Amino acid sequence: MTDCLFCNIAAGEIPSGKVYEDDDVFAFRDIHPKAPTHVLVIPKTHVATLSDVKDPALLGMLMSRVQHIADDVLGLEKGYRVITNVRAGGGQEVFHLHVHILGGKTLPF
Ligand code: 5GP
Ligand code: ZN
Repeated sequence: MTDCLFCNIAAGEIPSGKVYEDDDVFAFRDIHPKAPTHVLVIPKTHVATLSDVKDPALLGMLMSRVQHIADDVLGLEKGYRVITNVRAGGGQEVFHLHVHILGGKTLPF
């Protein structure tokens, strides 16, 4: 979708702090980090929000990549938090499915 911010980031048309990319996902640093490490992982396929996912395999793929990026790419061996905000009531501001990875400090509740 050409009018989607995260589709444009995944396509390399808008600069971002890329930390990982493969055929299925793109991961980049959040522009307003809430922790020392704050990375967003997005599927390259446009899906607006978690509730719109039709294919369970997409969720398995996405969480598997989140695991790989957090553990192997970012090296968050002390731990991390994974968050997906769903629709405006859940705090979602960008309507392209994304998973936040937060780490690098002991996180409060
Ligand atoms: P949401 O609130 O939708 O779950 O999270 C969207 C996140 O995207 C926010 O944490 C926000 O800081 C981040 N964000 C918004 N615009 C940009 C951008 O242009 N570049 C990057 N790297 N992050 C962005
Ligand atoms: Zn998109």
